[in-house]
This record gives sequence, structure tokens and C-alpha cells, in this order.
Amino acid sequence: MIITEQKPIQGIVDSLREYSRIFIIGCGECATACKTGGEAEVLKIKKELESAGKVVTGSCVPSAPCIAAKMKTELSKNIKFLKEAEAVLVLACGLGVQSFKDNDRLGLAVFPALNTLFGAVMDSKGNFFEKCSMCGECVLDITGGICPVTLCAKGLLNGPCGGMDKGKCEVDRDQDCAWVLIYKELEKNNKLASLKEIRAPKDFKKSGKPHKLVMAK
Ligand code: SF4
Ligand code: SF4
Repeated sequence: MIITEQKPIQGIVDSLREYSRIFIIGCGECATACKTGGEAEVLKIKKELESAGKVVTGSCVPSAPCIAAKMKTELSKNIKFLKEAEAVLVLACGLGVQSFKDNDRLGLAVFPALNTLFGAVMDSKGNFFEKCSMCGECVLDITGGICPVTLCAKGLLNGPCGGMDKGKCEVDRDQDCAWVLIYKELEKNNKLASLKEIRAPKDFKKSGKPHKLVMAK
């Protein structure tokens, strides 16, 4: 799940200063879960834009705006209202914003209403926790299923730095040291011997941008 936060409304209004007719697109997946781009947030921002003197020509909330087929379906359903607009405000992560741009046949100006923060898991209470940095070379098999790249503030691969204190990270005392968690997990599973193997530096070419995975032949 991609975690987002809404930009300050005044900044959004300022970014739209050259446009008066706006179409709004939300996101039925991650941004709905984050309460940043669901039906309720689309309605709220519509009212705020109207209070700022804008005309909102229409809105939609694709179930997954980052998937071209879903985006295209919603755009074609709303083509009349999109043609009346000068710009589109997207309440989705940066993927959703760019998916709109990729699939827009009208060449409308596009603006993000959200800041994209991180990929996360959601716990049963609806809280979000970053667990994976998508490094392209997963080491969870040797770290007891706990990611040192993400959960260690320094991304260390060969055990803790010298700053750990009472199990807490020196960078953020509210956070458990990832390597203490890894140690306890390996100890529980009788796999501490694996810590004696020195891990080579990761291949950072694998985290070079932009990634692509071409599936079509
Ligand atoms: S090592 Fe961590 S950042 Fe890399 S793929 Fe695995 S979970 Fe993700
Ligand atoms: S204290 Fe632990 S989690 Fe924090 S930077 Fe050092 S090794 Fe990483």
C-alpha cells in the first residue's frame, strides 16, 4: 500500500491559480485507506475549491487509478466533464497522477493534491508501517523476516552500529533497533550462526531508477 498525505489546501489552490475549471480524480485503493483520496476527501476538496472560486466540472474515484485499464474506464465514463475542465486535480499517489497523464487523451494540465510518502503494511487498527524499501535484492531469508534496509536507520547489513542503547535505535529512541529484533528472531529459531557470515554490499544498481518490467511480448 502506498501512503499519502494531503498537501495544504492553500498550496493546492495556489498551484491551480491559472485554471478555473477543475475535474477531480480520487483513488479507491490506497488513498481511500489513507483517508486522503476516497469519496469523502474528493467531496471535501470539491467544496474547498468551490469556496476558492473554482468550478468543479466533475469527479471520479477509480478503483485503482495506477492501473491503466481502470483509469481509462473512468475517464471514458467522465469524458463530457473532462472536456469542460481546464485542469485535473488528482487525489492519489504519484503513480496515480502519472497514470492519469499517461492515459489522458485531452492533454489536460494535471496537479497532485497529495504527497506520496512510503510503501507500508496496515495493521488491524488501521496504522501504517513502512517495512520494505523495494531494494531489489531481498535479504529477509537471512534476517529472520525483518528488513534491515528499511527498519535500521542506517540500513546496515552486518549487525548493529555502536549506538544501540537498551534495545533502542540511536537515531530514534522510540524505535526498536532493527538488529536487536533480528538477533532475537534468529536466536528464537536457533539460527544465530548465520550472523557470522559477512554479507557483501548490496548491488545498488538494482535500486537504480526508473525500474520497468515488460510483460507484453
Ligand atoms: S531487503 Fe528489505 S527493502 Fe529489500 S526487498 Fe527485502 S524487505 Fe524490501
Ligand atoms: S541503533 Fe540499530 S537500528 Fe539504529 S542505526 Fe544502529 S543498528 Fe540501525
